[in-house]
Amino acid sequence: MQGLMMDYPLTIDRILEHANRIYPRKKISTKLPDGSMHRYTYANLYGRVKRLANVLDKLGVEPGDRVGTFAWNNYQHLELYYAIPGSGAVIHTLNIRLFPEQLAYVVNHAEDKVVFIDATLLPLFEKVADEIESVQHYVLFNTDAGVETKLPNVSLYEDLMAEASDDYNWRVTDENTAMGLCYTSGTTGDPKGTLYSHRSMYLHTMGANQANVLALTERDVVLPVVPMFHAMAWGLPYSCAFAGAEMILPGPHLQPAALAEMIAEEKVTVPAGVPTIWMMLYQELQENPRDVSHIRVLTVGGAAMPRALIESYEKELDVSVLHAWGMTELSPIGTVSQLQTHHLALPEHEQWDVKERQGYPVAGVEMRIVNEAGEEVSWDGITMGEVQVRGPWIAKGYYKLDASPDHFTPDGWFRTGDVATISEDAYMHITDRTKDLVKSGGEWISSVVLENGLMAHPKVMEAAVIAIPDERWGERPMAVAVLVPEAGAVTTEELNSYLAAKFAKFWLPDKIAFVDEIPKTSVGKFDKKVLRHRYAEGQLG
Ligand code: ADP
Repeated sequence: MQGLMMDYPLTIDRILEHANRIYPRKKISTKLPDGSMHRYTYANLYGRVKRLANVLDKLGVEPGDRVGTFAWNNYQHLELYYAIPGSGAVIHTLNIRLFPEQLAYVVNHAEDKVVFIDATLLPLFEKVADEIESVQHYVLFNTDAGVETKLPNVSLYEDLMAEASDDYNWRVTDENTAMGLCYTSGTTGDPKGTLYSHRSMYLHTMGANQANVLALTERDVVLPVVPMFHAMAWGLPYSCAFAGAEMILPGPHLQPAALAEMIAEEKVTVPAGVPTIWMMLYQELQENPRDVSHIRVLTVGGAAMPRALIESYEKELDVSVLHAWGMTELSPIGTVSQLQTHHLALPEHEQWDVKERQGYPVAGVEMRIVNEAGEEVSWDGITMGEVQVRGPWIAKGYYKLDASPDHFTPDGWFRTGDVATISEDAYMHITDRTKDLVKSGGEWISSVVLENGLMAHPKVMEAAVIAIPDERWGERPMAVAVLVPEAGAVTTEELNSYLAAKFAKFWLPDKIAFVDEIPKTSVGKFDKKVLRHRYAEGQLG
């Protein structure tokens, strides 16, 4: 028997309609390239999104077409976040930090028809202009008529907006229609596209706003430092509108001093960004203290938040930290870590143990950890397994690729490629990525844990650990280390005896190579692919 409820499509335009109807006066502010603040309201956003949807029609964008954006976090980018899906097309957020060949690859792979470019980033895009095949129009914003560019078929955003009507009927009636396309940054291979639907993004928005997750309300002032070109800015452009939260968009101003100033002056309650940003902000606040008392929760994800940094924020600055884990393929929110009632009686250091973990799966995300044989392993806080997830906002394939068993299991789970333990009380702790894990004689050695062990040594500045082939054990760990300048030399034996105090003997690296620099990817993670290649070529000794 079928239920007797309305067939109400979950589409992105519903989110904007809600914000305009209920919170028309709430503000959205952008720090412009010249440092001044642009301010308008959700009602203004609504009118401009409708105009922009008409602009897209006029440019010949049709339902299903991919439209690229190459921009910082600003109000124009936000308008595109609503207008493109509202017109039935697909917003393809281009990562401005991709290497040129990867940028050309993703534009061509997605076959973007129009690309909207923040003119402050024009030189970066022009580098790849000659390799782009599909784009018919470019539209520039944050610039005026005097702009010079080698791009063909260029229009100015505000010129097109001025000519367009603000009357528009949203196009999408089927909630399963694609609305967004986001490529992974390719840490582990060619970038792969995740294609979100209206339904998946709508449900993610509700999932992110649950009280046990971000719990955004109309009282919040949200500062998305996480870029709108990376994992949909964690969905904040949509969850803020649903909650009626005020938004502060930092534009290109991501330096710690500028962020500290915005947090103080705009009375930000929820700043959101990766650990590196909060590390720099903490240092800035040490030197130039500012008022951070309005922060309700400092949201952090994208990489592990160091425990010492969580402690510094909470103890010294009285700022509570929400550590989250996610991926582009998860729209991106998967888990969040905050204390539950049964943790409150624990001694302080055990509470930090909990906050350091990536946390429990949010309602809407199912999770399991699995061994090499594909069997589920227990949630005992010790046994490592590959993290697999399923749920309504999790990818079931990659754009234009066959759903390979490397990424998706036959019984419908997404293989994250992360390796973790899960405690009895459901807190996941990431220990590695499957590709980086060292499998030595049937035992798993976490490269990340070993790296952290090495980096705790006072003479080691950076350390990366890779698996090297070994006849007897299959694989053995090797470390590549950069020493603190002028701290003096240290030998492999010294480092290994330092590690021996914390780790089982079979975890100790067989070799340690000392280098000047560790290669990094476009998003600043250790590039272990390059390290493995260098080892195979005999360049690491
Ligand atoms: P990629 O880095 O592969 O391009 P994403 O930007 O989507 O892809 O990053 C997802 C990955 O980032 C996760 O699979 C995980 O390895 C890592 N990650 C995200 N959040 C955390 C966290 N809180 N702690 C540790 N690792 C994290």
